[in-house]
Amino acid sequence: MIFDIEIIKEIYKEFSGQVDIAKKVLGRPLTYTEKILYSHFGFPVEKEYKRGVEFAEFRPDRVAMQDATAQMALLQFMSANIDKAAVPSTVHCDHLILAEAGATSDLLRAIDINSEVYEFLESVSRKYGIGFWKPGAGIIHQVILENYAFPGGMMIGTDSHTPNAGGLGMIAIGVGGADAVDVMAGMNWELKFPKIIGVKLSGKLNGWTSAKDVILKLAGILTVNGGTNSIIEYFGDGAETISCTGKGTICNMGAEIGATTSIFPFDKKMYEYLLATERKEIAESANKLGNYLKPDEGSEKYYDRVIEINLSELEPHINGPFTPDLAVPVSKFKEFIKEKKYPSELKVALIGSCTNSSYEDMERSASIAKQAKEKGLKAKSEFIITPGSEQIRATIERDGLLDIFTDIGGLVLANACGPCIGQWKRHNTSDGEKNSIITSYNRNFAKRNDGNASTHSFVASPEIVTAFALAGTLLFNPLTDEIINENGRSIKLDVPEGNELPGKGFLKGESGYISPAEDGKEMKVIIKEDSSRLQKLEPFAAPDIEKDYKNLRLLIKIKGKCTTDHISMAGPWLKYRGHLDNISNNMFISAINYFNDKMNTVKNSLTGIYDEVPKAARDYKSNGLGWIVVGEDNYGEGSSREHAAMEPRHLGGKAIIVKSFARIHETNLKKQGILPLTFQNPEDYDKIREDDIFDMDLKDFSPGSVILMTLKHTDGSTDKINLIHSLNQQQIKWFFAGSALNLISGKKRK
Ligand code: SF4
Repeated sequence: MIFDIEIIKEIYKEFSGQVDIAKKVLGRPLTYTEKILYSHFGFPVEKEYKRGVEFAEFRPDRVAMQDATAQMALLQFMSANIDKAAVPSTVHCDHLILAEAGATSDLLRAIDINSEVYEFLESVSRKYGIGFWKPGAGIIHQVILENYAFPGGMMIGTDSHTPNAGGLGMIAIGVGGADAVDVMAGMNWELKFPKIIGVKLSGKLNGWTSAKDVILKLAGILTVNGGTNSIIEYFGDGAETISCTGKGTICNMGAEIGATTSIFPFDKKMYEYLLATERKEIAESANKLGNYLKPDEGSEKYYDRVIEINLSELEPHINGPFTPDLAVPVSKFKEFIKEKKYPSELKVALIGSCTNSSYEDMERSASIAKQAKEKGLKAKSEFIITPGSEQIRATIERDGLLDIFTDIGGLVLANACGPCIGQWKRHNTSDGEKNSIITSYNRNFAKRNDGNASTHSFVASPEIVTAFALAGTLLFNPLTDEIINENGRSIKLDVPEGNELPGKGFLKGESGYISPAEDGKEMKVIIKEDSSRLQKLEPFAAPDIEKDYKNLRLLIKIKGKCTTDHISMAGPWLKYRGHLDNISNNMFISAINYFNDKMNTVKNSLTGIYDEVPKAARDYKSNGLGWIVVGEDNYGEGSSREHAAMEPRHLGGKAIIVKSFARIHETNLKKQGILPLTFQNPEDYDKIREDDIFDMDLKDFSPGSVILMTLKHTDGSTDKINLIHSLNQQQIKWFFAGSALNLISGKKRK
């Protein structure tokens, strides 16, 4: 079955005409990104939008949600009083499965522990016309690539790695749940028209180098915020040599450089992948669109910046620890580990995840494992395999790859996120113990994998990770070094090999899909009475700007990196993602307080006593006081979770004031009615003192206005600083309504 084929045919029917109009209006060749963006405009295209400056409204073709973010997205959708999702949408149960003992037992335990959440998600999906993928069916982005992504399409997803679908030529953007609600409600969706960074690929990957190394290298060039407000468009002869799933890997990890999304133009590799995943009709229709699904000749000069990478010369890279942009070529990695004195013993090597579990990835990794088996080598570190979907798992099981992994000591986990999102119960390291792991995943912030801030997590391609599993040490270069086998003989690994697609075709495995009800009007959404995991939402109150923005307290002045993980931790807290009040007890608990360098210890200005952050916030709220948070650069980078915006709003936060924001989080704050502000002069960060009380002047709050904030210090002196914001007229309406959702549902509270 091809999902939504009639809708896709309609989109393709209109596509060339829309592109022609845009080309005429702009009067020049278009990049591929522009073709998709302008063909998905919410209004007729009448002018060229200023990139990175003007907001535009779009009509995405579909919405995808994963179980951890879907809970809050769908609780919000329920409050919007709408009968049915206006565009094709799906929910994928992948984040809540704790990895511990292996696929079968982990999955059974997850179904038991999370039953009320799964029942809620299934019932709400069936009622509102949303497709539901059961736990075990696969990780959202792999399932989307296999079933829903199509060249020239546009989708949004409540997960920051939604851009994975760019591997199939789709503009796919990670958003918060409130954005998903807009689109499911049939409204236009707003986005600042992004800049476009062109990455020109030449040459061909060879030897140990794989698609993952393209993005590991690019992360080193652009850093974690180099892609902010930009779409990365890959082009050039080299792009056509990379498999469709390899392209998916590259686009997936574009999230790590802050890119709005990443995309490759339609080519033969995508055509072949569509055929292999039984979507011939889409493959043929896309083929007919020809150059419409590619950048126009001469469009190269309209990229805001061009970066060139020669695939033939590209070396495998290993990035990390603690940040994905610390890119080290494999030839320099040993020296890097020694120089930095990082723990060299490798405790665990993990392959798979949504980033790297294609057939090609698995076969190349298995080719290394096979050599090990034949040469009397076993994995010296723990070796863990996470298939990205049931389709991949069933196919690699049939082809004997899973057996090869387990023969060298591998443990196969459920088709789910597990160790990639802190859902991992480790057995060989205690909390706080310094140790090293290497994964083929995408994200490696402190605590990301196992909740232990002392775990040094490195990121590489799956074949490189597999080789390291055999070596058991980071002081190793798979390209040049030998490993001692069980008989004391030195073994040198040959370069990995693998097919892009399975010769015998894909096996579907167990079906994990539940289609929505034909007519869900009378269906009930199941929420258990007195649930600690699910809570219906109450609308946020509209602000009183004369009162609410005076006498504000400083909840925390954050030092250094503050990702959405720092604001709302994952791991054990994932279970409260559908219960706003309960999950708010994790607010900012791993952010570092500037004044004492400690986590979760802030001065409560009412008592003078150091308190846990959520407790101090609740104390201010119960005393009728608003509060602010102060932070540094790229605040809110990482995951798209809107809990990081809803929790501060729920506990009485009024404004977040930082040096700069990550895009998705800034929008999430706006949608929830909390002010995202930046220092006009970043050095004003230094003026904020621990006991300050703040007054904000919002009298003239309008697009582009500057907000004056008075800092009242305890010694009686004051400072006045200017704050700037990026809210446009519509977003200011959200603020005055209390939230964007209040505007949709008409439930504005006085
Ligand atoms: S990045 Fe990790 S947590 Fe996110 S969808 Fe992929 S596997 Fe799951």
